[in-house]
Amino acid sequence: MFKIGGEYLARSTDPVILERALSGGVATALIKYLLEKKIVDYALIVRSDGVTGGRLFFTRDPREVVESAGSICLSPINMAKAIRDYVSRDEKIVLTVKPCEEKAIDYLVKTGRVNRENMFLIGLNCGGLFDPFSLEKTMEEMNIDPKKITDIRYHDDGIEIIIDDEKSFRIDYVKGYEKLGQRDACKRCLDHVPKLSDVALGYWGVPVRTAKYTYTIPLTERGRRVLEEMLHSGLIEAVPAPPSAVEARKKIIEALNKTSMIARAKQYEILDKTGISSYLQKCLMCMECWHACPVRSEKEIYAWKKKIDPALWQVSVITYMYDKCVGCGACEDVCPVKIPFALIIERLRDLRKELGV
Ligand code: SF4
Ligand code: SF4
Ligand code: SF4
Repeated sequence: MFKIGGEYLARSTDPVILERALSGGVATALIKYLLEKKIVDYALIVRSDGVTGGRLFFTRDPREVVESAGSICLSPINMAKAIRDYVSRDEKIVLTVKPCEEKAIDYLVKTGRVNRENMFLIGLNCGGLFDPFSLEKTMEEMNIDPKKITDIRYHDDGIEIIIDDEKSFRIDYVKGYEKLGQRDACKRCLDHVPKLSDVALGYWGVPVRTAKYTYTIPLTERGRRVLEEMLHSGLIEAVPAPPSAVEARKKIIEALNKTSMIARAKQYEILDKTGISSYLQKCLMCMECWHACPVRSEKEIYAWKKKIDPALWQVSVITYMYDKCVGCGACEDVCPVKIPFALIIERLRDLRKELGV
């Protein structure tokens, strides 16, 4: 039934997974299946403690995977860095990734640091992540316990915040991004859907929130085959996505991209007005950005620190990262003096395109 690039509404047939999962449980069912069939050695999963807190852990136990179903974490977690730091080329692993993380993993694959053949990537749609402090502060102001947020959903007209699976309220994108403290890198992101994973999953386009389906797109032959096996084993059920669902998903992606283009232009304007050098001269050479970055090599850091003249440090790092940066914004999250490092790189790339050089 499944075709590469085909769009489907699917769901787990396991009542426990279906109950716990946010939308259809296909991600949980997939990870469980891959572990049980020993197609992978272990899984890297997220367990959240309210929407602003989440921790990553490795597991071989399918029960732990089911227990973590429905975990949402709206603060940055850095899956790709965990892969870079803790996964060897020989280990077979499954993990869920956001679009910027799959790009970082793709870079790690191309530079020989991890083996794509040994990784099953479940790509998730991503509308963006939030600064945990701003999110919590706004929730407090609104008298909402952040731990009671059960989901944040993206629609074509804005963000919906769901409390205790019952109440919900909506904010339009621009107001919502500011109020909830969306990360600058996410505000300007133009990569909201997975393209490099084995399977792309999400809920965008699923008609009703409570319908409990996962919008499912196999992206590789391996992804297609595993979904097909699961379907034949009765672990999932699936139907082709109806045109209304395809259209609804498309509209959400268009709305997010449109908002990102506006945010990007605004961020460029501020950057141009302030001047890149004003930001760069604040650099403390603390290396926090280096440690946080999923594509820079930890080994290289020591060589760099010894060799580089502090006055040239940031310019050298920008040159070094110019064709490597995947725009995840992890460097901006940790910078103590708020240097918009990834924004500077994106600005320079766009300027180069504009100038045609
Ligand atoms: S940069 Fe932000 S919005 Fe874009 S994929 Fe990464 S986390 Fe999601
Ligand atoms: S430089 Fe920053 S935005 Fe670019 S890949 Fe590294 S951490 Fe991500
Ligand atoms: S985190 Fe900020 S201050 Fe520290 S080295 Fe990176 S850019 Fe400079």
